[in-house]
Amino acid sequence: MAPTTSTKQKDLFDLAAEEEPPGHASTEVEEPPGLRLLKNRQRFFGSVSDVNWNDWKWQFRNRVTSVEDLSKLTPLSIRDQVTMMLVTSKYPISITPYYFCLIKQDDPCDPIRKQALPAYDEIALSGILSEDPLEEERDSVIPGLVHRYPDRILMVVTDICPMFCRHCTRKREWRRGRWVRTPQEIERMLSYIREHTGIRDVIISGGDPLTLSTRHLETIISKIRAIDHVEIIRIGSRVPVVLPQRIDNELCDMLAKYSPIWMNTHFNHVHELTDEAKAACDMILKHGIPVNNQSVLLAGINDSIEAQMKLCHGLLKAKVRPYYLFQADEVEGTEHLRTTREKGLRIIEGMRGHTSGLAIPTYVVDLPGGGGKVPLQASYLLSRSNGQITFRNYRGEIYRYHNPKMVNGDSGRNGRHTNSKLQMPLPDLVAV
Ligand code: SF4
Repeated sequence: MAPTTSTKQKDLFDLAAEEEPPGHASTEVEEPPGLRLLKNRQRFFGSVSDVNWNDWKWQFRNRVTSVEDLSKLTPLSIRDQVTMMLVTSKYPISITPYYFCLIKQDDPCDPIRKQALPAYDEIALSGILSEDPLEEERDSVIPGLVHRYPDRILMVVTDICPMFCRHCTRKREWRRGRWVRTPQEIERMLSYIREHTGIRDVIISGGDPLTLSTRHLETIISKIRAIDHVEIIRIGSRVPVVLPQRIDNELCDMLAKYSPIWMNTHFNHVHELTDEAKAACDMILKHGIPVNNQSVLLAGINDSIEAQMKLCHGLLKAKVRPYYLFQADEVEGTEHLRTTREKGLRIIEGMRGHTSGLAIPTYVVDLPGGGGKVPLQASYLLSRSNGQITFRNYRGEIYRYHNPKMVNGDSGRNGRHTNSKLQMPLPDLVAV
């Protein structure tokens, strides 16, 4: 059917272009992140041998964990130091030397800097949100085991992370000291999973579970794999982004023994896709472990069509699937990094049709109070009557589609469908 475009529909579509044209990607030449990494490494860690630099344990031991450490690397005014000390007394700092070297030193708005360095807004705007908006602690059936969906369970095995990401949903854990679940606690978790035969998917998370030694991790994974009804194991880790040196053959060989295992990682910006990070993902993939990316929509970091396009295209080139884009949770100490749902929708709408569907993550909000994830997307359905549905496409052109008259007992005549199990009318329009 030939497309038509009404002024009204064109206006509707133009909402998506309020801030930048859909599909827009700047052609401005930027310094490649690999070159910045190299220069910063020479500048700040010039005396460190390649052996140490590429050793994840050296990287971990030499994290920046205080304002004092930071001021030795980069000049900080007294005012900045005092402010950061105040912030870090509530929300500590932890940055691997590798990730620190990705920061564009002369740019206060650098997206890597904003994810890693403490900001006054973390405490200035505190108290207006919740420490645990997803109520993970309420939904913990035993400490560290969150059972929210019938067939999936989340195992939080440690609170240790190589880097403390300033937008972290679990930043409440940072003050509790560094802990790793004891063998007894892990055994209690495993007993629960064994007893609940409906659990087919176990997600191992933290903190970052890849901070555990390979041997320690294997004791946990092997026991999960021995449970007959567990079909898949997923590992949630930001290690490929902030400590790619941790991904080695020993780890990947171990994981490959317990297939099917999936890896969910967390790139937020294309500058994080260095050769080192891509090689880490490649090694995981070559061991038969699919890698998905779960990013968070963050103000001033990736909240534009251009930033998301570059990130998602970069991920696809690294063979990593853009899986979720999260609306930032309502976490205390992160208000300054949150964006509106409307902005998120405009970004997704600006991508849809302008790039492959493979490059577009599912935009979701994790509902406060433990309500679970809900997808958000702009509506392309404009109206329906007598079984005829009117859509707009990504260019704002109008197309019509005719429902079948009768399919499997669902009447398409008046365009209303019902879910036969729930006997509930399904909404015409998804969230806009
Ligand atoms: S790696 Fe994940 S759990 Fe750790 S601080 Fe970052 S976002 Fe939070």
